[in-house]
Amino acid sequence: MKCIRLEMEPPNSHRSNRNLCDIKGCHNETSDKKPFCIAHLDRLPYVQNLEKNLLDREHELVSAANNTRPRIKIDGIICRDILAALHHYGPMSDKKLGFLIEVRSSIINHYLRRLQNKKQIRVISSKNYKNRRIIALHRNKSSDEPN
Ligand SMILES: [Zn+2]
Repeated sequence: MKCIRLEMEPPNSHRSNRNLCDIKGCHNETSDKKPFCIAHLDRLPYVQNLEKNLLDREHELVSAANNTRPRIKIDGIICRDILAALHHYGPMSDKKLGFLIEVRSSIINHYLRRLQNKKQIRVISSKNYKNRRIIALHRNKSSDEPN
């Protein structure tokens, strides 16, 4: 039988990777030389940015849901999500798009109308698909069209 010898770290090498949390009064250790312990990971700029984006997205959706004629920001997070999804996955039904970016169909229509008015997307009603609405990126440059 083959004997596998595990490379053991010297007992103190692990200690050197640990720091104390930067939060005043917190005595927790951190791992991987992170500045904050697990209880204070939300202080990391990356996490704060993520949280801010999620909050902004939620605010956008709540405001769109509570207004019959919401002001849709063309450079807002939802519009960006819609364009990114179409860019990545190609044309799709409004239902699928809503499902993909987690926006209810009653709300997504506000965004689609706005993007359509701004010539960012095209809405095609397709008889092949039981008259479902198919959403596609608006290609106004001829170089974008396939030959
Ligand atoms: Zn801490």
